[in-house]
Amino acid sequence: MKDAAPQTIYLSDYTPFGWTVESVHLTFRLAPTATRVISKIRFTPTPNAPKQAFFLHGEALTPIRCTIDGQQITPTFTDTGLTCDVPDTAFDWEAEVEISPATNTALEGLYMSNGMYCTQCEAEGFRKITFYPDRPDVMATFTVRIEGAEPVLLSNGNPIAQGDGWAEWHDPWPKPAYLFALVAGDLINHPDRFTTQSGRDVELNIWVRPGDQDKCAFGMEALKKSMKWDEDVYGREYDLDIFNIVAVDDFNMGAMENKGLNVFNSSCVLASPDTSTDLNFERIEAIIAHEYFHNWTGNRITCRDWFQLCLKEGLTVYRDSQFTADMRSEPVKRISDVIQLRARQFREDNGPLAHPVRPESFVEINNFYTATVYEKGAELIGMLKTLVGDDAYYKALDLYFTRHDGDAATIEDWLKVFEDATGRDLTQFKRWYSQAGTPRLSVSEAFTDGTYTVTFRQDTPPTPGQDVKDPRVIPIAVGLLNPNGDEVLPTTILEMTEVEQSFTFEGLATRPVPSILRGFSAPVILHRDSTNEERAFLLAHDTDPFNKWEAGRALARDGLIRMIRNGDAPDTSYLDSLTAVVRDDTLDPAFRALALGLPSQDDLAQTLFDMGNTPDPQAIWQALETLKQATAQHMQDLLPRIYAQYQVDGEYAPDAAQSGARALANAALGLLTRLDGGAQAQKQYDAADNMTQQLAAFACLLSAGNGDAATADFYDQWKHDRLVIDKWFTMQIVQADPDQAAAITRTLTAHPDFSMKNPNRFRATLGALAMNPAGFHHASGAGYAVLADWLIQLDPLNPQTTARMCSSFETWKRYDPDRQALIATQLDRILAQPGLSRDTREMVDRIRK
Ligand code: ZN
Repeated sequence: MKDAAPQTIYLSDYTPFGWTVESVHLTFRLAPTATRVISKIRFTPTPNAPKQAFFLHGEALTPIRCTIDGQQITPTFTDTGLTCDVPDTAFDWEAEVEISPATNTALEGLYMSNGMYCTQCEAEGFRKITFYPDRPDVMATFTVRIEGAEPVLLSNGNPIAQGDGWAEWHDPWPKPAYLFALVAGDLINHPDRFTTQSGRDVELNIWVRPGDQDKCAFGMEALKKSMKWDEDVYGREYDLDIFNIVAVDDFNMGAMENKGLNVFNSSCVLASPDTSTDLNFERIEAIIAHEYFHNWTGNRITCRDWFQLCLKEGLTVYRDSQFTADMRSEPVKRISDVIQLRARQFREDNGPLAHPVRPESFVEINNFYTATVYEKGAELIGMLKTLVGDDAYYKALDLYFTRHDGDAATIEDWLKVFEDATGRDLTQFKRWYSQAGTPRLSVSEAFTDGTYTVTFRQDTPPTPGQDVKDPRVIPIAVGLLNPNGDEVLPTTILEMTEVEQSFTFEGLATRPVPSILRGFSAPVILHRDSTNEERAFLLAHDTDPFNKWEAGRALARDGLIRMIRNGDAPDTSYLDSLTAVVRDDTLDPAFRALALGLPSQDDLAQTLFDMGNTPDPQAIWQALETLKQATAQHMQDLLPRIYAQYQVDGEYAPDAAQSGARALANAALGLLTRLDGGAQAQKQYDAADNMTQQLAAFACLLSAGNGDAATADFYDQWKHDRLVIDKWFTMQIVQADPDQAAAITRTLTAHPDFSMKNPNRFRATLGALAMNPAGFHHASGAGYAVLADWLIQLDPLNPQTTARMCSSFETWKRYDPDRQALIATQLDRILAQPGLSRDTREMVDRIRK
């Protein structure tokens, strides 16, 4: 087969498929290297569809036979599918193909993981199972027969019949092929039931490998809470008799919302206090909710084409964040989400991979499951809700569900629902979907005769392929405080639509202190010349928890930048303000833990770059070390009190209250370790009876350079548990001294437990290196080299995971010429690999430009 030039797909080229699929019947005869798939599909020509040749997708399939209305035919096969002549009227298609799940290391289509069969079809994996119009706007009902020796045989929908060595499933809800799933294996279920609001009794199961059955209870509770929440908040009820979740060890992403049969990366569902941290529990709860919520936002209403991916992902991320805010703490969730948004999405928006929330072209759609589509996509929903108000939002959502149930919809459909429900014109809002890049919002202020005027200016820097940006509508939540700390204007939404726009507030006795962009009401970068006195004032007095946190963050960032640029000492007024927050027991411990967090190395690098400096990763790391040391010394009297006071007694629970207390105590432990060399951390490590406490102590010991004994002990204790050993790999690299990080990574890739075939383990190791920026960007280039070496090795096996991990290089243009040259060498080396996947080629091409 020749290397065809990879084709770029354009949104503007969309044409509907010429046939309707009435029903699909699939039979699977499972065998590791020779599974037979027999498909029977009823096609009807769609009246008035654009004229086109009959084409079915198909990749890596061995055709055995194809018939139309019972007559054997000889299609023309290509690398990507088949074409053949078909009747002008309805016809029955039948095909038999052979596939080899056991050798499918790409983990797309039907593959095997630890002896179990499973599938991943989103986005375009179904074409690796059989010939089919594998596009999301072709929806059909599926009936599936599975023949195999495995005790558990699962597919979508409801079970209809089963016997020894076979099972049949029928999914009454028409769906696109990307939602197809099949699982077969020796699995154990954790069963439960849920009664929906209209009284439907639903059987629930979490299916796991033997040995994991004690790690299902938390996920099951999360599922039931999600089902209830979607009824209460969105009026959405579950629509089948059964809902199955399966845990799979080898999985490229987090989880997948296949109709009635969600498949999860085992790291995103298995949970137990001994093996999972508080953050793991929170993430598992959110991902279970996310996949469940897709049943309506994704499955009942799906996407017309993959350019519309944010239609289901942005909305579903938004819904799962609402859920987490309701289950736990709304401010803590918001602050954590913004930290992630800035770390991942702003970084993407500022670099060569920037793309609109609704992209207009792609080579490989798997490369667009990004922070921009997901997290920025969710921010757009949040802004819409802010602009129209809560009641109108839920009214629009009701209209969306009634109008588009059963549809493969578009962003235009989505916005039209809001326009119809609210009478609002959303033409300008739509730019948020089509323009890439993060707007910079600069602020200037004036105060005369009791009138305060605030003027905003918006600018979005050019992004690849988009030089000129039009002004967007930006909801800016503002509150005003008077100098004694009382709020004189509660949160008010200012709606900015122009490049530059002023807003005035009259009748004020004194010049107010503004609290701008409360709750982070828009995904923008705010530039405001503020004094540190004012930031300290807001940190102490702002009634908006997000901006209270943000004020502390701005203080920390400003001090760090001055340390890096001018060699200043740590700012003691910042340390005083921070100490006051940490000492204040009326504040949520989780909030105080977040306040103790510092801007990331990556955040500081981007800030310096934006100020016209070339960031030095080593200097950034050093400044953070110096500031943490100074913080520890500044708080040396307070830390033991905080550490002791927030120890949790009694039975472990992964709830917001306990995890907030542990987060604060462990933040204190991190600082204490800088004073005692790890004595307290060693005590905590030895006494720990849950993973949160054990891992936090392990991290402290490693960061103190005192981790050898714990490293050996931790491995010995957990060598039987793959998810815990992932943490062991990661922690050693993340906590490594930057001079050692690349070497430690290389050593760990030689460990017998390292495996390229398991994406979790690969990410736990090579992904961890990028989480140690000073190590990854080490002047020697050793970090770049070890990552490139392994990406080159992984690409032939698993293009999807390789391509995603190339984004570690996406910030390279920020750095000095020497580092840029070192990175360019590695990127070029990757591009020079014969047979490089189109996934990885697209990513490296975009980065290298
Ligand atoms: Zn999703």
